[in-house]
Amino acid sequence: MEMKTLVRSLRIGYETNSSSTHSLVWLPEPRRTELEGPPRMGSYGWEWRVLREPEDVVGYILAQALCRDVRERERYDFPMLLELLAEDGVCRDVLIRPEKEEYGFSALRIDHASEWIIRGYAVVPQFFRDLAEWALKNERVGVATGNDNDDPEALSEEERRAYELLHEHAIAPFKWLGRDRPTFISKPGNYYLMLFTGVWDEELGVCREVVRARVAFHDKPLRPEWPESIDVKITEQCPFDCWFCFERRSRDGPHCRLKDYEDLVGNIAGHTLEIALGGGDPLCHPHCEEMVDMAKRYGVIPNFTTKDISWYRYLREHNSPEELERFRYLGIGLSLTSPWNLEKVLKLTAGLGADFLYYVLHVINRVHRTEDVLEAIEVWKETYPSYPKVLVLGFKPPFCPVEDVEERLVEPLDIEKLREAGAVLMFDDLAIRQLGVEDYVPPETWRMFYQGRDGEYTMFIDLVRMECARSSMPGEERYPIKKAYEAIDHFRSWRERGGA
Ligand code: SF4
Repeated sequence: MEMKTLVRSLRIGYETNSSSTHSLVWLPEPRRTELEGPPRMGSYGWEWRVLREPEDVVGYILAQALCRDVRERERYDFPMLLELLAEDGVCRDVLIRPEKEEYGFSALRIDHASEWIIRGYAVVPQFFRDLAEWALKNERVGVATGNDNDDPEALSEEERRAYELLHEHAIAPFKWLGRDRPTFISKPGNYYLMLFTGVWDEELGVCREVVRARVAFHDKPLRPEWPESIDVKITEQCPFDCWFCFERRSRDGPHCRLKDYEDLVGNIAGHTLEIALGGGDPLCHPHCEEMVDMAKRYGVIPNFTTKDISWYRYLREHNSPEELERFRYLGIGLSLTSPWNLEKVLKLTAGLGADFLYYVLHVINRVHRTEDVLEAIEVWKETYPSYPKVLVLGFKPPFCPVEDVEERLVEPLDIEKLREAGAVLMFDDLAIRQLGVEDYVPPETWRMFYQGRDGEYTMFIDLVRMECARSSMPGEERYPIKKAYEAIDHFRSWRERGGA
């Protein structure tokens, strides 16, 4: 089985290491073949070794499932996991086999630096069970572990074999799991969504802070029953008056009810991984912070978008460590007003010691000039310790009639120049079509990174007017909803009708 069979698509969006290192690996031959090598058990992470017997591989996975961090931080249903696992023959053996006690259940421990930190609440037990089953069925899945402090040149021949397996045949996405930063997980359908914070993977050309991957333990088509991410409008209030605004908004526009918001996040928890809070300016909602905290409690990542200057003003007022911590691991979209406003935000953030905040610069095709975006990228590279990330949005007709639209529009963005500038580029569905993005990348790159059309894995919910649609595009049919979670039924029916 090839790696790509497991990882169906990647999104660079959103890192791990200590002295110990370990991963599930592809063995050179089916594991039941006798291979020479170091002893198979010991202290995970510190000694170089390869685990190849099915029960040892599953033991490693179970040790991850049962490790202190997962248990204590996630408080997931631990007995349920044991019950699920006990249904599987080998899993049950690993759990209860007395003769293996010396390295069986009692050894289901992971070196402190090797634990996977996975946040996903209710779906975590199911994930470990599916992973264990998959590993059992795949004869070439093994585990290699070792110690990063060792000089590779000083390793014995046997240790060297484990070293090579680990460094050359680690299975994505498991080599990205670690303890320094968490991985977030959800199950939108017959597959998992995994969002890794802190990934560095040269082989896949993925060397960015955050990567989201669809991971399936089968070869069937992916069937999302829940949107992977939802664009959620929480307010129609905005202090700005951009001529190109395609939203209904005003300085005193209405907000959504907190109760409707909780209805939504409570019902999508465990399935939908991310929501994108928008408006209007989401920072105008009087319960904005509460909404961020609430989504995080439910295990949903509440990204949001605001203007660079609006975030600057907010950050000047709300910068205690507790307030900054609230936004850790979220995506904060900054709509570009000017490179110098972006510079103010980035310098303030770095000065506050909050450079863990994850920013994405939002620019609009035909509204933002390539020169300004290039300058913003340069400013980012000079002031902020992360890769510049730019989300290019397609131009949509303004909501309020504008007479001289054609005269206001600038040249389409030059994506070759943006790419040469060293930014991570992302595009919405509309920008992909307007800029012909598919023509810029090799087919295999497109297949790996393309996330799908609007409505295929995503949707839009307007919680202010209680409506939903495939996307927020003007002209897209909107469906009234009484309860926020009814929107998910609409998503399913679009998909069933093949109209996503
Ligand atoms: S584009 Fe955004 S910031 Fe500008 S008026 Fe519309 S909602 Fe406000």
